[in-house]
Amino acid sequence: MQCEECGQKRTRHKATLDRPYHDHLTGLSNVYLVGIAIEECACGEAPEIPRVPELLDTIALVLLQKPGLLRGEEIRYLRKHAGFPAGEFAQILGVSREHLSRVENGHTENFGVSADRLIRLLALKKSNRELVGRLLREIDGRPRRDQQLWLRWNGKRWQASDGQSTNWYVPQQSNKPLSQCL
Ligand SMILES: [Zn+2]
Repeated sequence: MQCEECGQKRTRHKATLDRPYHDHLTGLSNVYLVGIAIEECACGEAPEIPRVPELLDTIALVLLQKPGLLRGEEIRYLRKHAGFPAGEFAQILGVSREHLSRVENGHTENFGVSADRLIRLLALKKSNRELVGRLLREIDGRPRRDQQLWLRWNGKRWQASDGQSTNWYVPQQSNKPLSQCL
């Protein structure tokens, strides 16, 4: 087949371990794909990437399990993969948006281990991100009087209350502000 742009004949090869496809679409600098078809002409390489969402999930799962601290670009990947805008993510982490941006761009050292773990938790909790984000944003660390924790089995599910009211709620479904919970 001829390329409409450069007029050259397009060649086709399979990306292999010896000749992988160095992918830049993810924003990660160290992603190499093998086993996929690559079409090539003077314009450059055009990969045929099957099941892109599955690929992106796989990359996220690998990053989530890496034992070392996440690098800036990896933090950005996981944040975007989990669907967090930068401002919201910075707010949840308790850092300024500028600081998050410097880390993601590699201009500043990584966050410490605690923030790194929190980032992974957020990325893991993609499906629950609204609830998790809301709860974490509301943690201010100010001392409070300890309240009692009451739990009630209503025949179908456990419900919780602070014991001072008959206001039972199911924590996973509650829309109560955290300040009204424990
Ligand atoms: Zn071409």
